[in-house]
Amino acid sequence: MGVEGKRGLLTLFVLTAIFGFVFGTALAFYTNGFFSHVGNEVYDPKPGGGEFIADDPQNSEEDWHGAGAGELNTLLARRILGKKVSPTWEPKKSKVAYLTFDDGPSYNTPEILKILKKYGIKATFFVNGWNKKNFKEMLRMIYEDGHALGNHTYSHRYELIYSSVENFMADLKKQEEMIYEATGIRPKIVRFPGGSDNLVSMRLGGKDIMKKIADKLKEEGYIYVDWNASCGDASKPPFSKDQMKEAVRRTAKGKNPVVLLLHDLDSKKTTLEILPWIIEYLQGEGYGFETIQQGMEGLEKVNRTDFWR
Ligand SMILES: [Zn+2]
Repeated sequence: MGVEGKRGLLTLFVLTAIFGFVFGTALAFYTNGFFSHVGNEVYDPKPGGGEFIADDPQNSEEDWHGAGAGELNTLLARRILGKKVSPTWEPKKSKVAYLTFDDGPSYNTPEILKILKKYGIKATFFVNGWNKKNFKEMLRMIYEDGHALGNHTYSHRYELIYSSVENFMADLKKQEEMIYEATGIRPKIVRFPGGSDNLVSMRLGGKDIMKKIADKLKEEGYIYVDWNASCGDASKPPFSKDQMKEAVRRTAKGKNPVVLLLHDLDSKKTTLEILPWIIEYLQGEGYGFETIQQGMEGLEKVNRTDFWR
């Protein structure tokens, strides 16, 4: 072999070595980065394990989407390496609680908002419109804090709203207009004063009045939501704080979702006082908090059938 041949062979050898090094390093980086993502973010249980607790809805939203990306990575990992990844992933936020405040806004509203903000959670406010001094400002505060606003009728007067479908709808639209003026939105979620199974309505508007109203709401794109848990803050005589805590424990027990009834009225100071306890209790039970939104399927089935069990 001449000098030319030797030089050619040497060049080939060096080029092969460089190529091998560069390619190998790149591959190592790529696969390591790629699969460590799968390992760390999706399949390693978080410290403490168990249920996911959403104490910051924005972060939890990210986690939720992150989990979807993780699922894709898993499929790719299986395809490329034939590697078995243990199928332990389960949807997060599997236990959901909806805190619902009826009859507001009130002079307690700013304090309720402060507590919710402190815990980084969102709630749903079913509001009325009668006799409210700072009504629009309060509605704006609720809305701007990212909570859901729902319609609880303008007057909350049973004898008016349950006397006919037309009267109910007129009262509802009056309230809707006020919410719209304050926030620019027209909520499509409704809570009936007294609940969808209230008996007073029958006496006022006939046996089928609630069904007729419910049908009309559906026709116009509204959903209504009752509740399946309560802190008992509308009880007469009023519950003590311990009784209210017991009511939450007993009525929320084993339920998913929990739709918890609370009241936002000037007189309901104890509700305000035990709100931090309620939030921490439900978090401890593994619940994440969400708001009720337009078009949610299935929430109309939530009711008080098995209230105290
Ligand atoms: Zn009410």
